[in-house]
Amino acid sequence: MNTAVWILIVVVTIWGLAAQRVPGLVWTTALACAIALWDVFIRPPTSLWLAAWSFFFVMVLPLAVTPFRRALISAPLLREFKKIMPAMSDTEREALEAGTVWWEAELFGGDPDWDQLFNLPQPSLSEEEQAFLDGPVEQLCAILDDWQITHEHRDLPPKVWRFMKDKGFFGMIIPKQYGGLEFSAQAHSAVVMKVASRSITAGVTVMVPNSLGPAELLLHYGTDRQKQHYLSRLARGKEVPCFALTGPEAGSDASGMPDRGVVCRGTFKGKKNVLGIRLNWEKRYITLGPVATVLGLAFRLFDPDNLLGSEEDLGITLALIPTNTPGVKIGTRHNPLNIAFQNGPNWGENVFIPLDWVIGGRERVGQGWRMLMESLAAGRSISLPALSVGAGKVACRATGAYARIRRQFKLPIGKFEAVEEGLGRMAGYTYMMDAARTLTARAVDMGEKPSVASAIVKYQLTEHMRRVVNDAMDIQGGSGICLGPRNFMGRVYQALPISITVEGANLLTRALIIYGQGAVRCHPYVLQEMRAVADPDIKRAVRNFDEAIFGHARYTISNVARAFWLGLTSARLVRSPVDGPAQRYVQKLTRLSTAFALISDIAMLTLGGALKRKEKISGRFADVLSFLYLASAVIKRFEDDGRPVEDTPLMHYACQYCLHEAEKTLVVILKNFPNAFLAWLMGGLVFPGGRRNHVPDDRMNHDCASLLLESSVARDRLTRGIYLPKTTRDALGRLEDALPKVIAAELLERKLVKLAEDYPPLRGDHEAQLKAAVARNVLSAAEAKLVRTAQAARRGVIAVDDFEKI
Ligand SMILES: Cc1cc2nc3c(=O)[nH]c(=O)nc-3n(C[C@H](O)[C@H](O)[C@H](O)COP(=O)(O)OP(=O)(O)OC[C@H]3O[C@@H](n4cnc5c(N)ncnc54)[C@H](O)[C@@H]3O)c2cc1C
Repeated sequence: MNTAVWILIVVVTIWGLAAQRVPGLVWTTALACAIALWDVFIRPPTSLWLAAWSFFFVMVLPLAVTPFRRALISAPLLREFKKIMPAMSDTEREALEAGTVWWEAELFGGDPDWDQLFNLPQPSLSEEEQAFLDGPVEQLCAILDDWQITHEHRDLPPKVWRFMKDKGFFGMIIPKQYGGLEFSAQAHSAVVMKVASRSITAGVTVMVPNSLGPAELLLHYGTDRQKQHYLSRLARGKEVPCFALTGPEAGSDASGMPDRGVVCRGTFKGKKNVLGIRLNWEKRYITLGPVATVLGLAFRLFDPDNLLGSEEDLGITLALIPTNTPGVKIGTRHNPLNIAFQNGPNWGENVFIPLDWVIGGRERVGQGWRMLMESLAAGRSISLPALSVGAGKVACRATGAYARIRRQFKLPIGKFEAVEEGLGRMAGYTYMMDAARTLTARAVDMGEKPSVASAIVKYQLTEHMRRVVNDAMDIQGGSGICLGPRNFMGRVYQALPISITVEGANLLTRALIIYGQGAVRCHPYVLQEMRAVADPDIKRAVRNFDEAIFGHARYTISNVARAFWLGLTSARLVRSPVDGPAQRYVQKLTRLSTAFALISDIAMLTLGGALKRKEKISGRFADVLSFLYLASAVIKRFEDDGRPVEDTPLMHYACQYCLHEAEKTLVVILKNFPNAFLAWLMGGLVFPGGRRNHVPDDRMNHDCASLLLESSVARDRLTRGIYLPKTTRDALGRLEDALPKVIAAELLERKLVKLAEDYPPLRGDHEAQLKAAVARNVLSAAEAKLVRTAQAARRGVIAVDDFEKI
């Protein structure tokens, strides 16, 4: 064997071992074998042979002997880490450790196990859930009149409140034993989506009691007595709940709230010397607050007289307070951008409550932040993502139809490329959003509390709703701007900033949660390392640190090897559990996942704690992880639906868009990486042949836009689950009615245009053209009738409201 062949074998072996993340013992054995084979086949000079074995025995072998390695390397390294790692507050730790991670952790780790995703059963609804959607939800939507709600009543009418309460809309997450509907996350999401597609005000009103609030908290932490008392009353709408966390001084940084409770003895309902809490608070922006009968309240609890123990600051605590308790002030309203759900401030002045009003009772005192963080993920996975998709679907269906019906320059405006470009985006984004909505709800149904995935869907789906609705507004022109019963998009447009701000404002969610929490929770070793550094038991800490740090080293080496290999081969050799049109995207996503894992790891290693403050970088990492998640959801949906040919353009568009965004963002990260040399090195490893993923091309955009311009199974599938009114008294109903009529008349109308061109006096007089066309046998009487019907339907669609007085 000559030296070149030997070197080649060694390099390939090292590469293979690195990529496979083999344990240290395999590395050691492999190195010993390599030196032995070198000796046998190449016969190196004795000095080199001695140097190689010395290196092996002095430097490598001790690493394979655990006690040596721990004493010589891990323990000193741990001491250094303890010195430099910033101390973490309890609130920070609880927020970081709350919830679970799931598929997003696979994407974060660089080598996703695709079987895990594709083996998930498809999302489905039980018969009972489907019957609820077809029955009470359909009936509710039919009695909702959004203009009346937002402009005239500035509230839901009493009959709508009654209907929602009676039919159990406020108890979707409450178990049947308490009289609730006990719906799956999938059904819960489907209900919110459908109601929100009809009225954002009604959607938010249904959403809040089923999201993070009294019911969710009671289910997980309530005492039996609290559950018995409240859950059945909440399920039947006998109590209207709200949850008050935010105040003037505590918005995004809610844990810094100044609202205080002091443990003391007081008089309660005539009984003296009751152990309880005296509360003072000021909250604002509280949804359902003005009409709530029970207020979930977050406050910091102090025990200066040590009535509960020895600590003075007991921490954030949660209590349920009936709003008729003396000292509670509630009832005034904010006006959230003309959307009419109930929202307002509330105050408490020296309100005395017994200790057993604390959610979970005395043993849950001071655990409020953890309870909130643990319960946040389920609601965040469902509510706003469902609302966003509802808005996206309405925009696609209605604005798509409008673009076919509305004519300018003698053509439907949807046929102009500038309009088409927006329509194509709307269709592709909405397909992607819906896929992510159902996938994440599926995770909740499997028992996950997906803290990172829920932040991804909250952020990305509300952002993409904003883009879809903005496109829709551009296409609607003046008809989107003039508010009134005929306008189906204006209120949705006004509501956009609300979704962006609530349940974790988007700037913060992107910069701090998706990647900040993701880096700790999704990374295979970082959390273990952090726990070891914080562990006061040194022996245990060294053992765990040793395991984590060497695992981490193998992980990084493997990502280097894999990233370069996948870059060179463009991931064409990656195994994909699916074939067909989506197969290539699985391979490309695997490649980008590895690139992300490598660059993110190097960023963490080089920037350490400073990465927390580098929100531009962490925000971009959040985007890459998000787009990998969204693309994988798209493929899963396409496969679950049975790869429908008609949906193929949507799948391609959404995947190409996500891949392009993820790759482009990685390049931007490298461009702004604080260490230029490392950035250059990583760029070479990750993109050896340059960038490979491009924006969806114009043909694909055209194919997606075309799906929105006429009735088709793909359009129905894309917009499934929203409310479609059956009457032409309604704006969306008019569009549904007009679209087939207008399409049926298009060819005939062309004949009229030709006629008017030939006989100029007919120009501009539609009725005269029709009569002339019938007289000249250009159209039959029946055809003329069809054109008249289409024309009337078109006029109905393009009309806007005007008012005597505003
Ligand atoms: C209509 C509506 C309904 C609501 N319903 C409820 C409710 O029912 N219960 C309840 O308790 N609260 C509710 N809220 C409050 C909502 O959760 C807060 O508005 C939100 O947490 C942001 O707080 P803020 O508005 O005070 O903004 P601020 O905290 O002042 O933030 C302003 C901006 O700065 C950004 N920002 C702040 N810190 C950082 C950071 N470290 N990194 C990056 N960006 C940062 C934010 O993302 C935001 O964009 C509601 C709010 C609205 C508007």
